[in-house]
Amino acid sequence: MITFEEAIRIVDGQTQAIGKEIALTALRGRVLAGDVHAAFDSPPFDNSAVDGYGRRAEDLGKEALPLCGSVQAGDDGRLVVPGGAAVRILTGAPVPPGVAAVSMQEDCVESDGIVRFREASEPGDNIRAAGSDFRKGDLLLRQGTRLNSAGCGLLASAGVTAVEVTTRPRITILTTGNELVEPEKALAAGQIYNSNAVALQEFLRSLSARVHLRHCPDDPEAILTEAAISLERDDVLVTCGGVSVGSYDFVKDVFAAAGIVQRFWGVAIKPGKPLYFGTCGHALVFGLPGNPVSALVTSYLFVRPALLKLQGHPDPWGRPRQARFEGSARKKPGRLEFLRGDLSPEGLVREAGEQGSHQLAALAVANCLIHFPAEATKLMDGDLVQVTPLDW
Ligand code: AMP
Ligand code: MG
Repeated sequence: MITFEEAIRIVDGQTQAIGKEIALTALRGRVLAGDVHAAFDSPPFDNSAVDGYGRRAEDLGKEALPLCGSVQAGDDGRLVVPGGAAVRILTGAPVPPGVAAVSMQEDCVESDGIVRFREASEPGDNIRAAGSDFRKGDLLLRQGTRLNSAGCGLLASAGVTAVEVTTRPRITILTTGNELVEPEKALAAGQIYNSNAVALQEFLRSLSARVHLRHCPDDPEAILTEAAISLERDDVLVTCGGVSVGSYDFVKDVFAAAGIVQRFWGVAIKPGKPLYFGTCGHALVFGLPGNPVSALVTSYLFVRPALLKLQGHPDPWGRPRQARFEGSARKKPGRLEFLRGDLSPEGLVREAGEQGSHQLAALAVANCLIHFPAEATKLMDGDLVQVTPLDW
Protein backbone atom coordinates (compact mmCIF):
# COMPACT_ATOMS: atom_id res chain seq x y z
CA MET A 1 0.00 0.00 0.00
CA ILE A 2 1.19 3.48 -0.86
CA THR A 3 0.29 6.72 0.89
CA PHE A 4 -2.40 9.12 -0.26
CA GLU A 5 0.20 11.74 -1.21
CA GLU A 6 2.20 9.24 -3.25
CA ALA A 7 -0.95 8.07 -5.03
CA ILE A 8 -1.84 11.65 -5.93
CA ARG A 9 1.68 12.27 -7.24
CA ILE A 10 1.45 9.20 -9.46
CA VAL A 11 -1.95 10.13 -10.94
CA ASP A 12 -0.80 13.71 -11.45
CA GLY A 13 2.38 12.54 -13.17
CA GLN A 14 0.42 10.42 -15.67
CA THR A 15 -2.18 13.07 -16.52
CA GLN A 16 -1.67 15.60 -19.31
CA ALA A 17 -4.06 18.13 -20.79
CA ILE A 18 -5.91 16.86 -23.87
CA GLY A 19 -6.88 18.84 -26.97
CA LYS A 20 -8.91 21.97 -27.57
CA GLU A 21 -11.92 22.83 -29.67
CA ILE A 22 -14.33 25.67 -30.38
CA ALA A 23 -17.56 25.53 -28.41
CA LEU A 24 -20.68 27.59 -29.05
CA THR A 25 -23.15 26.33 -26.47
CA ALA A 26 -23.32 24.59 -23.09
CA LEU A 27 -20.22 26.42 -21.94
CA ARG A 28 -20.73 26.14 -18.20
CA GLY A 29 -18.05 23.89 -16.69
CA ARG A 30 -15.84 24.09 -19.77
CA VAL A 31 -12.22 25.20 -19.31
CA LEU A 32 -10.89 28.05 -21.46
CA ALA A 33 -8.03 26.98 -23.73
CA GLY A 34 -6.91 30.57 -24.27
CA ASP A 35 -7.27 34.05 -22.78
CA VAL A 36 -10.42 35.93 -23.81
CA HIS A 37 -10.12 39.67 -24.56
CA ALA A 38 -12.85 42.24 -25.07
CA ALA A 39 -13.50 43.30 -28.67
CA PHE A 40 -15.34 46.48 -27.62
CA ASP A 41 -16.12 48.68 -24.61
CA SER A 42 -18.91 47.61 -22.29
CA PRO A 43 -21.30 49.13 -21.70
CA PRO A 44 -20.98 50.32 -25.30
CA PHE A 45 -22.55 53.73 -24.48
CA ASP A 46 -23.09 55.96 -21.45
CA ASN A 47 -26.41 54.93 -19.95
CA SER A 48 -28.57 55.74 -16.99
CA ALA A 49 -28.25 53.68 -13.81
CA VAL A 50 -31.66 54.83 -12.54
CA ASP A 51 -35.13 55.94 -13.60
CA GLY A 52 -35.03 59.73 -13.34
CA TYR A 53 -34.29 63.02 -15.05
CA GLY A 54 -31.16 64.18 -16.83
CA ARG A 55 -29.78 67.68 -17.36
CA ARG A 56 -26.78 69.40 -18.86
CA ALA A 57 -23.77 70.46 -16.80
CA GLU A 58 -24.72 74.12 -16.84
CA ASP A 59 -28.18 73.28 -15.42
CA LEU A 60 -27.07 71.09 -12.51
CA GLY A 61 -27.63 73.89 -9.99
CA LYS A 62 -31.15 74.76 -11.21
CA GLU A 63 -34.21 73.79 -9.18
CA ALA A 64 -36.82 73.55 -11.93
CA LEU A 65 -36.58 72.83 -15.65
CA PRO A 66 -39.12 72.16 -18.40
CA LEU A 67 -39.14 68.61 -19.82
CA CYS A 68 -38.02 68.34 -23.43
CA GLY A 69 -38.61 64.64 -24.03
CA SER A 70 -38.00 61.11 -22.87
CA VAL A 71 -35.53 58.28 -23.58
CA GLN A 72 -35.99 54.67 -22.63
CA ALA A 73 -33.76 51.59 -22.81
CA GLY A 74 -33.32 50.55 -26.43
CA ASP A 75 -33.72 54.08 -27.87
CA ASP A 76 -30.83 55.25 -30.00
CA GLY A 77 -30.11 58.20 -27.68
CA ARG A 78 -29.95 60.80 -30.43
CA LEU A 79 -32.39 63.11 -28.69
CA VAL A 80 -31.18 66.72 -28.43
CA VAL A 81 -31.45 68.17 -24.93
CA PRO A 82 -31.03 71.94 -25.11
CA GLY A 83 -29.67 74.06 -22.28
CA GLY A 84 -32.37 75.02 -19.80
CA ALA A 85 -34.31 71.74 -20.20
CA ALA A 86 -34.52 68.35 -18.49
CA VAL A 87 -35.04 64.94 -20.10
CA ARG A 88 -36.97 62.02 -18.70
CA ILE A 89 -34.56 59.05 -18.78
CA LEU A 90 -35.10 55.45 -17.77
CA THR A 91 -32.68 52.80 -16.52
CA GLY A 92 -30.42 51.48 -19.28
CA ALA A 93 -31.36 54.25 -21.72
CA PRO A 94 -28.51 55.93 -23.59
CA VAL A 95 -27.63 59.29 -22.06
CA PRO A 96 -28.25 61.95 -24.77
CA PRO A 97 -25.19 63.97 -25.80
CA GLY A 98 -24.49 66.83 -23.40
CA VAL A 99 -26.47 65.41 -20.49
CA ALA A 100 -24.07 65.43 -17.52
CA ALA A 101 -25.99 63.75 -14.71
CA VAL A 102 -29.21 61.93 -13.93
CA SER A 103 -31.24 62.54 -10.77
CA MET A 104 -33.27 59.69 -9.32
CA GLN A 105 -37.00 60.19 -9.79
CA GLU A 106 -37.42 59.73 -6.03
CA ASP A 107 -35.50 63.03 -5.64
CA CYS A 108 -37.64 64.91 -8.21
CA VAL A 109 -41.23 66.05 -8.65
CA GLU A 110 -42.74 66.25 -12.12
CA SER A 111 -45.94 68.20 -12.81
CA ASP A 112 -47.32 70.07 -15.81
CA GLY A 113 -44.20 69.43 -17.86
CA ILE A 114 -41.88 70.93 -15.23
CA VAL A 115 -39.37 68.90 -13.19
CA ARG A 116 -38.36 70.16 -9.77
CA PHE A 117 -35.02 68.85 -8.47
CA ARG A 118 -34.89 68.44 -4.70
CA GLU A 119 -31.21 67.42 -4.62
CA ALA A 120 -28.14 68.90 -6.29
CA SER A 121 -26.22 66.67 -8.73
CA GLU A 122 -22.57 66.30 -9.61
CA PRO A 123 -21.42 65.54 -13.17
CA GLY A 124 -21.48 61.79 -13.76
CA ASP A 125 -24.09 61.04 -11.09
CA ASN A 126 -26.11 57.92 -11.91
CA ILE A 127 -24.43 57.51 -15.29
CA ARG A 128 -22.80 54.20 -16.12
CA ALA A 129 -19.96 55.33 -18.35
CA ALA A 130 -19.15 53.53 -21.59
CA GLY A 131 -16.35 51.04 -20.90
CA SER A 132 -16.89 51.05 -17.14
CA ASP A 133 -17.40 47.26 -17.04
CA PHE A 134 -14.55 46.49 -19.43
CA ARG A 135 -12.66 48.23 -22.22
CA LYS A 136 -11.76 47.02 -25.69
CA GLY A 137 -8.66 44.85 -25.36
CA ASP A 138 -9.13 44.09 -21.65
CA LEU A 139 -8.41 40.54 -20.48
CA LEU A 140 -11.87 39.21 -19.57
CA LEU A 141 -11.07 35.64 -18.59
CA ARG A 142 -7.79 33.82 -18.31
CA GLN A 143 -6.80 30.52 -19.93
CA GLY A 144 -7.55 27.67 -17.52
CA THR A 145 -10.68 29.31 -16.09
CA ARG A 146 -13.53 26.86 -15.59
CA LEU A 147 -16.59 28.79 -16.75
CA ASN A 148 -19.32 29.32 -14.21
CA SER A 149 -22.70 30.88 -14.98
CA ALA A 150 -21.40 34.43 -14.49
CA GLY A 151 -18.46 33.70 -16.78
CA CYS A 152 -20.89 32.54 -19.49
CA GLY A 153 -22.80 35.80 -18.98
CA LEU A 154 -19.60 37.84 -19.23
CA LEU A 155 -18.73 36.17 -22.55
CA ALA A 156 -22.24 36.87 -23.86
CA SER A 157 -22.04 40.53 -22.76
CA ALA A 158 -18.83 40.79 -24.76
CA GLY A 159 -20.51 39.24 -27.81
CA VAL A 160 -18.24 36.18 -27.64
CA THR A 161 -20.19 33.27 -29.11
CA ALA A 162 -17.40 30.92 -30.15
CA VAL A 163 -14.98 30.06 -27.38
CA GLU A 164 -11.77 28.07 -27.48
CA VAL A 165 -12.10 25.47 -24.74
CA THR A 166 -10.34 22.24 -23.89
CA THR A 167 -11.87 19.02 -25.16
CA ARG A 168 -14.33 17.18 -22.95
CA PRO A 169 -12.69 13.94 -21.83
CA ARG A 170 -14.39 10.76 -23.03
CA ILE A 171 -14.94 8.37 -20.19
CA THR A 172 -16.55 4.99 -19.69
CA ILE A 173 -18.00 4.10 -16.33
CA LEU A 174 -18.09 0.33 -16.15
CA THR A 175 -19.90 -1.03 -13.11
CA THR A 176 -19.49 -4.70 -12.24
CA GLY A 177 -21.42 -7.12 -10.09
CA ASN A 178 -24.04 -9.87 -10.43
CA GLU A 179 -26.11 -8.33 -7.65
CA LEU A 180 -26.78 -4.99 -9.34
CA VAL A 181 -29.96 -3.95 -11.13
CA GLU A 182 -31.12 -0.64 -12.58
CA PRO A 183 -33.28 1.47 -10.27
CA GLU A 184 -36.40 1.22 -12.43
CA LYS A 185 -36.63 -2.57 -11.95
CA ALA A 186 -38.03 -4.46 -8.96
CA LEU A 187 -35.41 -6.05 -6.71
CA ALA A 188 -35.26 -9.85 -6.52
CA ALA A 189 -33.74 -11.64 -3.52
CA GLY A 190 -30.03 -10.80 -3.14
CA GLN A 191 -30.14 -7.84 -5.50
CA ILE A 192 -29.42 -4.17 -4.88
CA TYR A 193 -29.68 -1.14 -7.10
CA ASN A 194 -26.75 0.03 -9.18
CA SER A 195 -26.52 3.34 -7.37
CA ASN A 196 -22.90 3.94 -8.32
CA ALA A 197 -23.80 4.09 -12.00
CA VAL A 198 -26.19 6.94 -11.25
CA ALA A 199 -23.93 8.78 -8.79
CA LEU A 200 -20.75 8.48 -10.87
CA GLN A 201 -22.51 9.47 -14.06
CA GLU A 202 -23.99 12.57 -12.42
CA PHE A 203 -20.68 13.49 -10.88
CA LEU A 204 -18.46 12.98 -13.90
CA ARG A 205 -20.93 14.69 -16.24
CA SER A 206 -20.87 17.69 -13.91
CA LEU A 207 -17.13 17.81 -14.65
CA SER A 208 -17.87 18.09 -18.39
CA ALA A 209 -16.92 14.48 -19.15
CA ARG A 210 -18.62 12.69 -22.07
CA VAL A 211 -19.82 9.61 -20.27
CA HIS A 212 -20.55 6.12 -21.61
CA LEU A 213 -22.23 3.97 -19.03
CA ARG A 214 -21.78 0.18 -19.15
CA HIS A 215 -22.46 -2.68 -16.76
CA CYS A 216 -21.08 -6.23 -16.61
CA PRO A 217 -21.80 -9.19 -14.35
CA ASP A 218 -18.82 -10.69 -12.51
CA ASP A 219 -17.54 -12.29 -15.69
CA PRO A 220 -13.93 -11.61 -16.68
CA GLU A 221 -14.59 -12.06 -20.40
CA ALA A 222 -17.46 -9.61 -20.44
CA ILE A 223 -15.42 -7.10 -18.44
CA LEU A 224 -12.46 -7.53 -20.81
CA THR A 225 -14.64 -6.92 -23.85
CA GLU A 226 -16.02 -3.69 -22.40
CA ALA A 227 -12.60 -2.53 -21.18
CA ALA A 228 -11.10 -3.09 -24.63
CA ILE A 229 -13.85 -1.03 -26.33
CA SER A 230 -13.28 1.80 -23.87
CA LEU A 231 -9.49 1.77 -24.19
CA GLU A 232 -9.78 2.12 -27.99
CA ARG A 233 -11.94 5.21 -27.70
CA ASP A 234 -11.73 6.92 -24.31
CA ASP A 235 -9.43 9.16 -22.35
CA VAL A 236 -10.46 7.55 -19.08
CA LEU A 237 -11.84 4.18 -18.05
CA VAL A 238 -13.42 4.03 -14.61
CA THR A 239 -14.51 0.63 -13.34
CA CYS A 240 -16.41 0.11 -10.17
CA GLY A 241 -16.33 -2.96 -7.95
CA GLY A 242 -14.44 -6.22 -8.27
CA VAL A 243 -11.04 -4.72 -7.52
CA SER A 244 -10.50 -6.06 -4.01
CA VAL A 245 -9.30 -9.52 -2.92
CA GLY A 246 -12.57 -11.49 -3.10
CA SER A 247 -12.98 -14.66 -5.20
CA TYR A 248 -15.00 -12.76 -7.81
CA ASP A 249 -12.80 -9.67 -7.95
CA PHE A 250 -11.60 -10.12 -11.53
CA VAL A 251 -10.99 -6.54 -12.52
CA LYS A 252 -7.25 -6.42 -11.85
CA ASP A 253 -6.58 -9.58 -13.89
CA VAL A 254 -8.71 -8.19 -16.68
CA PHE A 255 -6.73 -4.96 -16.64
CA ALA A 256 -3.49 -6.93 -17.02
CA ALA A 257 -5.00 -8.96 -19.88
CA ALA A 258 -6.08 -5.72 -21.59
CA GLY A 259 -2.49 -4.48 -21.57
CA ILE A 260 -3.02 -1.84 -18.90
CA VAL A 261 0.12 -0.92 -16.98
CA GLN A 262 -0.57 -0.94 -13.24
CA ARG A 263 0.70 2.24 -11.55
CA PHE A 264 -0.61 1.36 -8.10
CA TRP A 265 -3.10 -0.90 -6.37
CA GLY A 266 -3.85 -0.25 -2.72
CA VAL A 267 -3.70 3.13 -1.00
CA ALA A 268 -3.49 3.63 2.77
CA ILE A 269 -6.82 5.46 2.95
CA LYS A 270 -10.29 4.70 4.23
CA PRO A 271 -12.59 4.47 2.42
CA GLY A 272 -10.95 3.38 -0.81
CA LYS A 273 -8.08 1.05 0.16
CA PRO A 274 -8.31 -1.22 -2.93
CA LEU A 275 -8.16 1.71 -5.39
CA TYR A 276 -6.34 0.75 -8.60
CA PHE A 277 -4.71 3.13 -11.05
CA GLY A 278 -3.11 2.25 -14.37
CA THR A 279 -2.47 3.61 -17.84
CA CYS A 280 -2.86 2.21 -21.34
CA GLY A 281 -1.30 4.41 -23.98
CA HIS A 282 -2.77 7.85 -23.27
CA ALA A 283 -5.75 6.44 -21.36
CA LEU A 284 -6.05 6.65 -17.59
CA VAL A 285 -7.64 3.69 -15.83
CA PHE A 286 -9.19 3.89 -12.38
CA GLY A 287 -10.45 0.75 -10.67
CA LEU A 288 -12.74 2.07 -7.96
CA PRO A 289 -13.93 -0.08 -5.08
CA GLY A 290 -17.62 -0.95 -5.26
CA ASN A 291 -18.86 0.31 -1.92
CA PRO A 292 -20.83 3.45 -2.76
CA VAL A 293 -19.03 5.76 -0.34
CA SER A 294 -15.64 4.38 -1.38
CA ALA A 295 -16.45 4.80 -5.07
CA LEU A 296 -17.56 8.40 -4.65
CA VAL A 297 -14.85 9.50 -2.23
CA THR A 298 -12.09 8.06 -4.43
CA SER A 299 -13.74 9.66 -7.47
CA TYR A 300 -13.73 12.98 -5.69
CA LEU A 301 -10.13 12.70 -4.52
CA PHE A 302 -8.55 11.14 -7.65
CA VAL A 303 -10.80 11.06 -10.71
CA ARG A 304 -12.10 14.63 -10.36
CA PRO A 305 -8.64 16.27 -10.25
CA ALA A 306 -7.50 14.05 -13.14
CA LEU A 307 -10.50 15.14 -15.24
CA LEU A 308 -9.82 18.78 -14.39
CA LYS A 309 -6.16 18.40 -15.33
CA LEU A 310 -7.05 16.65 -18.59
CA GLN A 311 -9.12 19.75 -19.33
CA GLY A 312 -6.23 22.09 -18.66
CA HIS A 313 -7.22 23.28 -15.18
CA PRO A 314 -4.09 24.91 -13.72
CA ASP A 315 -4.63 23.80 -10.11
CA PRO A 316 -6.76 20.66 -10.15
CA TRP A 317 -5.72 19.15 -6.83
CA GLY A 318 -6.71 22.04 -4.59
CA ARG A 319 -5.67 22.30 -0.98
CA PRO A 320 -7.47 21.25 2.18
CA ARG A 321 -8.36 23.98 4.67
CA GLN A 322 -8.21 23.95 8.44
CA ALA A 323 -11.17 23.54 10.73
CA ARG A 324 -11.82 22.78 14.37
CA PHE A 325 -13.26 19.36 15.13
CA GLU A 326 -16.37 19.01 17.26
CA GLY A 327 -17.15 15.66 18.89
CA SER A 328 -14.86 12.67 19.22
CA ALA A 329 -13.78 9.91 16.85
CA ARG A 330 -11.48 6.90 17.14
CA LYS A 331 -9.72 4.59 14.71
CA LYS A 332 -6.79 2.21 14.32
CA PRO A 333 -3.50 3.68 13.12
CA GLY A 334 -2.28 3.03 9.57
CA ARG A 335 -4.69 4.63 7.12
CA LEU A 336 -5.68 8.22 6.43
CA GLU A 337 -9.44 8.30 6.94
CA PHE A 338 -11.79 10.68 5.19
CA LEU A 339 -14.79 11.23 7.43
CA ARG A 340 -17.91 12.68 5.87
CA GLY A 341 -18.16 16.06 7.59
CA ASP A 342 -20.44 18.98 8.15
CA LEU A 343 -18.39 22.21 8.08
CA SER A 344 -19.98 25.35 9.51
CA PRO A 345 -19.31 28.85 8.19
CA GLU A 346 -17.43 29.50 11.46
CA GLY A 347 -14.94 26.73 10.63
CA LEU A 348 -16.25 24.11 13.03
CA VAL A 349 -16.62 20.62 11.62
CA ARG A 350 -18.36 17.51 12.87
CA GLU A 351 -19.21 14.11 11.45
CA ALA A 352 -22.16 14.31 9.09
CA GLY A 353 -23.59 10.92 10.10
CA GLU A 354 -22.74 7.21 10.03
CA GLN A 355 -19.33 6.56 8.51
CA GLY A 356 -19.62 3.05 7.01
CA SER A 357 -18.40 2.64 3.42
CA HIS A 358 -21.87 1.49 2.35
CA GLN A 359 -23.69 4.33 4.14
CA LEU A 360 -24.43 6.95 1.51
CA ALA A 361 -26.81 8.93 3.71
CA ALA A 362 -24.03 10.87 5.45
CA LEU A 363 -22.19 11.57 2.19
CA ALA A 364 -25.39 12.87 0.65
CA VAL A 365 -25.58 15.64 3.26
CA ALA A 366 -21.85 16.18 3.91
CA ASN A 367 -20.13 19.32 2.65
CA CYS A 368 -16.56 18.20 3.29
CA LEU A 369 -14.22 15.30 3.97
CA ILE A 370 -12.43 15.47 7.32
CA HIS A 371 -8.85 14.17 7.18
CA PHE A 372 -8.25 11.82 10.13
CA PRO A 373 -4.45 11.43 9.85
CA ALA A 374 -3.02 7.97 9.18
CA GLU A 375 -1.18 7.56 12.46
CA ALA A 376 -3.73 9.31 14.69
CA THR A 377 -6.08 7.15 16.73
CA LYS A 378 -8.45 9.74 18.10
CA LEU A 379 -9.93 13.11 17.31
CA MET A 380 -11.14 15.19 20.24
CA ASP A 381 -13.29 18.27 20.63
CA GLY A 382 -11.28 21.33 19.58
CA ASP A 383 -8.58 19.47 17.57
CA LEU A 384 -7.41 21.26 14.44
CA VAL A 385 -8.11 19.12 11.37
CA GLN A 386 -7.71 19.45 7.61
CA VAL A 387 -10.89 19.32 5.57
CA THR A 388 -11.46 18.99 1.83
CA PRO A 389 -14.61 20.92 0.93
CA LEU A 390 -16.94 18.96 -1.35
CA ASP A 391 -17.61 21.20 -4.31
CA TRP A 392 -20.04 19.06 -6.30
P1 AMP B 1 -17.00 -5.06 -4.63
O1 AMP B 1 -15.98 -3.98 -4.63
O2 AMP B 1 -17.39 -5.48 -6.01
O3 AMP B 1 -16.59 -6.20 -3.76
O4 AMP B 1 -18.29 -4.44 -3.99
C1 AMP B 1 -18.26 -3.96 -2.64
C2 AMP B 1 -19.65 -3.67 -2.17
O5 AMP B 1 -20.17 -2.59 -2.95
C3 AMP B 1 -20.63 -4.81 -2.34
O6 AMP B 1 -21.48 -4.80 -1.23
C4 AMP B 1 -21.37 -4.47 -3.60
O7 AMP B 1 -22.67 -5.01 -3.63
C5 AMP B 1 -21.40 -2.96 -3.55
N1 AMP B 1 -21.43 -2.41 -4.90
C6 AMP B 1 -20.56 -2.71 -5.89
N2 AMP B 1 -20.85 -2.04 -7.00
C7 AMP B 1 -21.93 -1.28 -6.71
C8 AMP B 1 -22.72 -0.38 -7.47
N3 AMP B 1 -22.43 -0.14 -8.76
N4 AMP B 1 -23.75 0.24 -6.87
C9 AMP B 1 -24.03 -0.03 -5.57
N5 AMP B 1 -23.34 -0.88 -4.80
C10 AMP B 1 -22.29 -1.52 -5.36
MG1 MG C 1 -18.51 -6.90 -6.84
